[in-house]
Amino acid sequence: MFKISTLNQEEYLNIVTTPTPNLKLLQIMPSLLCDARCKHCHIWGNQGWALQESKNNVTEQLDVEILKQFIDDALWQHNTKNFWVLITGGEALLYKHIFTLIDFLNQRQLPIILLSNGSQLKKISEYIVESVSSLTISLDGPEFVHDSIRNKKNLFKDACESILRIIKVKEQKKSLLPGITINCTISPFNIEHIKEFIKTLESLLGVQNIKIKLDINSISSSKDIAINFEPLLHTKTDSGIKYEQLMKRYLNSDASSTWRSFIADNIDMDVKPIKKYLLDLWEQHGVDHSKFVDLEEYFFNYNNVFNRIRCQNPWSTIMIRQNGDVHFCPDLKDFCLGNIYQSEFKEIWNGEKAINFRNYLSNNLFPICNRCCSLFIDYNWPPIKWPLPKKDSSKNVVKS
Ligand code: SF4
Ligand code: SF4
Repeated sequence: MFKISTLNQEEYLNIVTTPTPNLKLLQIMPSLLCDARCKHCHIWGNQGWALQESKNNVTEQLDVEILKQFIDDALWQHNTKNFWVLITGGEALLYKHIFTLIDFLNQRQLPIILLSNGSQLKKISEYIVESVSSLTISLDGPEFVHDSIRNKKNLFKDACESILRIIKVKEQKKSLLPGITINCTISPFNIEHIKEFIKTLESLLGVQNIKIKLDINSISSSKDIAINFEPLLHTKTDSGIKYEQLMKRYLNSDASSTWRSFIADNIDMDVKPIKKYLLDLWEQHGVDHSKFVDLEEYFFNYNNVFNRIRCQNPWSTIMIRQNGDVHFCPDLKDFCLGNIYQSEFKEIWNGEKAINFRNYLSNNLFPICNRCCSLFIDYNWPPIKWPLPKKDSSKNVVKS
């Protein structure tokens, strides 16, 4: 569940006024391709922006050699050594160079967070255990709910079988990694089935003695998996229109229409029962929920930003898209900072556009930030506290 900020005002201001921002998380969306069509997905869902795109745009795949060069620039020219890499999509494992990319990141000893819908994991359990630090698989309900949200038969079954296989390999190798998180998006499509979902998981995984933890940092055995509930990201039409005006006025930039794929002006669901259920669950498991956002406030009081007065993204992360464009906002194709086919890391990270964006964000939030997942991230790195495996560094390339 998203957390209310643990930072105070002074700490926020320190982050957004630092003259030397350091990359902590490199996000890569190397391809948009996906074999599911989730109803709530802002890319491929009922309101998804990819549906309006040309076939060429949505099938484009990032050149892996250019990407490798860009990452090396970040590592050596910029002397940024400690960032994590998040690979997402679409379905990340449909990227045609995915194994080349993961192998390269391993050679560079960069820890990998892989987001997946679980459809492509079946035959690569060993590889995942050897190569990935954190694996997040989306599961949004019991089987019939999950498959109907994703418009794909057997996806729940495939994802669960893959989780079980990966845990088996972890056990054999006595490995804590990858830490596995099941991510469940709470939305009108599944709110009435969350309780049933937990029970399904408990009976499915409990047979194998697998423990479900409500906090990823409490994972202490290869048989533990974490579950995270993430309330649906959304925005309001009037907030989006104001955002377009602010982008134009202060950043001299036209916003794309991608924010429109998040519009939820009238959310019609009763969150009270599930709020109570989750509170009871956390109490039973001794989870400190004092810092979690209140679900009712989240869905029905859009102006409450839970003391999150600034977005830390422009000082901590970038997203590289399938066409090489680089953005601070991972879910919006707005305010492109540059393109990796044309520019090196430092020209993008320290470029004029990045500085202008930081200047604006150091004093403001956009109206659409209120329910963006990036607003709820604290980049107090590393994000996961377990020890990382020592990887073979013999293949490291030394800067020439
Ligand atoms: S699996 Fe992910 S990318 Fe694919 S449709 Fe669902 S939410 Fe979108
Ligand atoms: S919170 Fe706002 S500025 Fe930050 S990534 Fe989201 S939309 Fe962009």
